[in-house]
Amino acid sequence: MIRREFTRRLLAGFTTIAIPWRVLRPAPLRVDGTRLQTHLAELSEFGKNPFGGVSRVAYTEADRQARAAVMGWMREARLEVGVDAAGNVIGRRAGREPSRKPLLIGSHVDSVPQGGNFDGDVGSVGAIEVARTLDAAGMTLIHPLEVLIFQNEEGGTTGSRAISAGLTPAELERVSQSGLSIRDGIRFLGGDPDRLDSARRARGDITAYLELHIEQGGVLDETGTPIGVVLGIVGIRHWDVTITGFANHAGTTPMNRRKDALLTAARCIDAANRIVRSVPGRQVGTVGKLTVEPGAYNVIPGRVTFGLELRDLDEGKILRLSRRILSECRRIAALEGTSLTSVESLAITPALTDPVIRGEISSAAEELGLRTLRLPSGAGHDAQEMARLGPVGMIFVPSVGGISHSPKEFSRPGDIENGANVLLQSLLRLDAKL
Ligand SMILES: [Zn+2]
Repeated sequence: MIRREFTRRLLAGFTTIAIPWRVLRPAPLRVDGTRLQTHLAELSEFGKNPFGGVSRVAYTEADRQARAAVMGWMREARLEVGVDAAGNVIGRRAGREPSRKPLLIGSHVDSVPQGGNFDGDVGSVGAIEVARTLDAAGMTLIHPLEVLIFQNEEGGTTGSRAISAGLTPAELERVSQSGLSIRDGIRFLGGDPDRLDSARRARGDITAYLELHIEQGGVLDETGTPIGVVLGIVGIRHWDVTITGFANHAGTTPMNRRKDALLTAARCIDAANRIVRSVPGRQVGTVGKLTVEPGAYNVIPGRVTFGLELRDLDEGKILRLSRRILSECRRIAALEGTSLTSVESLAITPALTDPVIRGEISSAAEELGLRTLRLPSGAGHDAQEMARLGPVGMIFVPSVGGISHSPKEFSRPGDIENGANVLLQSLLRLDAKL
């Protein structure tokens, strides 16, 4: 191979398949699908539960063992491996231009209690496989590359937030699912909660962050689409709505003399559902929490609190819907002689993915012959935290039946391999473009 041709292929990230009539037509570099599946299967042993999934809650022994395995695979990919002060695993690979800000890829290996084998694992193993493929092909990117395995994603994107926004003293004292405080959990993973500032990064410190993840919904599976190009991670808002009526004897109070707080709540919940569905789009609204006082067969409910949640990519839409719902609820309460107050208890702003990155993911998929669909992520991810630091992109692969956070979670090997190949090709495109 002449030197110029070698350099051209190196820059383009292509290898040539020697089909005689197409010798000069390069085929995209691809990951090793078998190795990817082997690593996924090995990872599923850490915290394996009797239901076919894993219980690998952050800061448990299973979490620590999984991270040790991940660090081993990173070393096999000849990444320079370390743990930052926040307890995140980072594998580094030098770039041809060391002054450039790094390109980041990664995900998480902690799970919910009784979780599955794909949420987080696919993106973690996929990112390491991408680094290994680059190493095997002898390719060096222009930018430095970092593979990140964030700690405690399921407990509130703790590791990625420590990097992008910092953790407050109150958060460090919060007791996690493992029983350890976040502070002790960070120590357990080899971090140093007294030096968290050293893990912090500022806006502009990264060139881009890319994450491969299972969809955790049923859209790709139902439409038979192999690759999802994520538009963003939805914003979430919560309201605690309290309705006050009058608790009275359920046997002696006539039906027309009641101030039944639960009846008002029931009508409000129905109205919320109706209003959320009344406008086009993918917004979702849920009432999943309800307390009834005093809570007896023979007492008319005097006080009810319900939790309303709204999610959408468009924060304005969330706010418009919430105003409509709450004003309709006040109208219902007035009709029924009850009163209503509401307090907003959570506000997470939407994190949009970068349009340029979306375009490159789509082009990478197209080049690999894979159809794509653009869709929002209704679930939270580390990418939403990393969006504070620079442009982010996410690649989704189908979850069979849309099941997730369950031992029944499943993504097909072929879909996972496709996702990792799209991650690899998107990375190469961004390396050349950004
Ligand atoms: Zn996840």
